[in-house]
Amino acid sequence: MPIRTAIAIILIITEACACSPERKSEASDPAAGSAQVHQTELQPQTENVSLNQNPTTPAPAPAAAVAAPKVSGEKAMQYTREVVAFGPRPIGSAGHKKLEAYLRAHLKNDELEEDTFTAQTPAGSFKMTNFIAKFPGTRDGIVVIGGHYDTNYPLKNYVGANDGGSSTGLPLALADVLREHKEGRPTVWLVWFDGEEAVQQWSATDSTYGSRHLAAKWQADGTLPKIKAFLLLDMIGDADLDVLRDTNSTSWLEDMVGQAAVKQGTSSHFFATENGIEDDHLPFVQLGVPSADIIDMDYGPNDSWHHTSKDTIDKVSGKSMEIVGNVVLQVVWQIT
Ligand SMILES: [Zn+2]
Repeated sequence: MPIRTAIAIILIITEACACSPERKSEASDPAAGSAQVHQTELQPQTENVSLNQNPTTPAPAPAAAVAAPKVSGEKAMQYTREVVAFGPRPIGSAGHKKLEAYLRAHLKNDELEEDTFTAQTPAGSFKMTNFIAKFPGTRDGIVVIGGHYDTNYPLKNYVGANDGGSSTGLPLALADVLREHKEGRPTVWLVWFDGEEAVQQWSATDSTYGSRHLAAKWQADGTLPKIKAFLLLDMIGDADLDVLRDTNSTSWLEDMVGQAAVKQGTSSHFFATENGIEDDHLPFVQLGVPSADIIDMDYGPNDSWHHTSKDTIDKVSGKSMEIVGNVVLQVVWQIT
């Protein structure tokens, strides 16, 4: 059960952890770094006008924006079902290994990078792997879409259909879309993060192992400035979809998510509440990457299914994943 702690600075900020039953709030404002956004300007295309030798012929209109394609909620649901069928998938488990093999098999024809590292945790050192599938686009820059694939380590008999399952299954369905549709969008990197869950108790050092590793790696190799936006998906399969507005995310990107939902006619599922969430986006927010955590933290009555044996596939809906997936695609195709 998340602890929601009020912090008096000027505003009252409440924070809740994405995936830990207990957590400490921090007085820092990780969203502060998000002020350094780097949207590229649209370059006006005037050359064709001067080459237009017949004044009666109208100048070519600017290329029409390519409409964002749609994701299949049925496919997202099928992938999530298959993922959950591996059973519990905490780091170091047999289910985790099976899922890694499953991801490799599904992404074998894509440009797949495995970011493997050793993490020191309260339960010892673990080999962890972030999977990164790259889908080149026709516009500049990179949009990263991520979700975690591990399930909670301390919990037993826990399959994490929503928390870990949906965040693995929906990106697989998005991969199917991105393979077929590259016109009118930037390059997209899909990331399946390892080690999001705390091994013992959620803290800055016992959580988000994969995203902390990858953010630091991309800072070191110069990748971060190329990332226009990072969209994180977590717990987005809840049949009663209620995505909150995360106050730790970058506000203009959250605005884009809300506007995309309006355009899709699904805004009733977004931003009825707001909260500050600690999740895999924070390492990127802290390094100045515009980031939005798309998360429904109200799972079951008073979030009572979160991190319990009740987080099962019957609580998950393909329709919810489709709503979120289509909003994400809208943002990707719209971002400049
Ligand atoms: Zn969790």
